[in-house]
Amino acid sequence: MKTMIASPLLHPVMPETTFDVLLVGSGIMSATLGTLLRQLDPTLKIAMVERLDAVAQESTDGWNNAGTGHAGYCELNYTPQAKDGSVEIQRALGINANFEVSLQLWSWLVEQQALPAPRSFINPTPHLSFVWGETDVAFLRQRFERLRQHHLFQDMEYSEDPAMLAGWMPLVMQHRAPGQAVAATRVSYGSDVDFGTLTRGLVNTLQQHPNFSLHLGHTVTALKQRGDRQWQVRVQDGSSRKTGTLVAKFIFLGAGGGALPLLQQSGIAEGKGYGGFPVSGQWLVCNNPDIINQHHAKVYGKAPLGAPPMSVPHLDTRIIDGKPALLFGPYAGFTTKFLKQGSFFDLPASIKPNNLKPMLAASLHHRDLTRYLIGEVFQSHRERVSALSRFYPDARAEDWTLAAAGQRVQIIKHCKEQGGKLEFGTEIVTASDGTLAALLGASPGASTSAQAMLTVIERCFKERMRDAEWRARLQAMIPSYGLSLVDDAELLRSVRQRTLATLALR
Ligand SMILES: Cc1cc2nc3c(=O)[nH]c(=O)nc-3n(C[C@H](O)[C@H](O)[C@H](O)COP(=O)(O)OP(=O)(O)OC[C@H]3O[C@@H](n4cnc5c(N)ncnc54)[C@H](O)[C@@H]3O)c2cc1C
Repeated sequence: MKTMIASPLLHPVMPETTFDVLLVGSGIMSATLGTLLRQLDPTLKIAMVERLDAVAQESTDGWNNAGTGHAGYCELNYTPQAKDGSVEIQRALGINANFEVSLQLWSWLVEQQALPAPRSFINPTPHLSFVWGETDVAFLRQRFERLRQHHLFQDMEYSEDPAMLAGWMPLVMQHRAPGQAVAATRVSYGSDVDFGTLTRGLVNTLQQHPNFSLHLGHTVTALKQRGDRQWQVRVQDGSSRKTGTLVAKFIFLGAGGGALPLLQQSGIAEGKGYGGFPVSGQWLVCNNPDIINQHHAKVYGKAPLGAPPMSVPHLDTRIIDGKPALLFGPYAGFTTKFLKQGSFFDLPASIKPNNLKPMLAASLHHRDLTRYLIGEVFQSHRERVSALSRFYPDARAEDWTLAAAGQRVQIIKHCKEQGGKLEFGTEIVTASDGTLAALLGASPGASTSAQAMLTVIERCFKERMRDAEWRARLQAMIPSYGLSLVDDAELLRSVRQRTLATLALR
């Protein structure tokens, strides 16, 4: 599937071009927003500007993320343990319901033939949580008891029986110490998503439309709001180095790690005080097809003490560009770049008078995280394989190669108690006049892109959303739109029946 550069964005003799919507970046977020807006109003003139020469090459690319369809089935950090020992499930319920929104949108697009066959971008991959030791087994048992009472998680299975677990994940159970307390939960219709292929599919369909234009190899370097509230945007052509200006009535900063500097540039009051802390990632990638073929699941464990939530180790079946792979990680790391293909000056350049205090406060309060990241950076191959062998006891160093994953920029913002704190979620920042939105942070990320972009539309297209036609179109794409999948068991049943069948996940 190829995407091509379209119009001459920076033609020197052309007057400034005006767009209704400017999407900065070609990752899953911009592609989803463009797709939704195009369905809601096909007359909107939409441009997508991407600094790299191809679509979705940063965090969204298949090799740069874990491809987990985050639904709260296997990620233990979404169900933290309260001080009294009880397991909190609220966050997992919300993430599960949000993932169902993405599944509905993708199902509708597949039905409309606006996306290719589901197998090209989403594959059924059981989601398992696996723990060992009496304390963690007790935690998992309690987590299971709480979750399975809710309709969103009613199909979850649980076992402490090593023979049953060996059937679910043979590599993980082979030659495990006998007598060790072990337990796992499993949801058979968990998914692996190749977000890169999905995004390229979305952009391909957008490109069929005359009111959409894609501009690869162009970087947004500056933006300024004019008196008429429209945005004047400076763009540089990466090959000729020429710059030009275009105008947008609405701008979405879907630039991944590059969103924070652009938000700072915009000068909107809502963007003040935000800082970013980059965390890089690495995987061990299995190079032995015999081993790859013996594992068919995403097996998530518990994060080591002091590790950030996105460092939960997992042994993952992946299908990237149609080929099976097996990855273990992520191993976190530190760099000052905000994008994988970014600059070492990204972090220092993002420090401004308005975010200096929260950034200093966050760095003081998260010394354990800094220590953890430094430890991760200096690990040897042998140490990384030793971490893997806690999951897969027979792991051999020669079967695994280290590969770089994508870059995450965690949000730092002001907080009353500590002056500044580090957050591991996603945040949508919008201008009060609805002319600009930015997406910061990276978790749960691509899986909840549909819900995140619906939020952008609800906040920035308030007038249009009062239109019965827009609401009807949204409900056609996402039948649960405006309703609660957390509260309505019957609605969930019908929605899930359709998405699992359409996307061939069951
Ligand atoms: C290691 C890792 C594991 C992850 N695992 C998962 C997972 O299992 N499941 C999940 O759902 N999510 C996961 N995520 C998160 C997910 O990958 C991201 O949330 C998602 O891809 C972000 O999409 P995006 O469109 O916002 O950004 P990106 O995909 O990063 O796209 C931003 C684009 O903007 C472009 N850009 C930047 N600056 C400019 C500029 N000035 N001008 C023009 N273009 C610009 C970039 O080149 C890039 O193409 C993971 C992320 C990482 C790093």
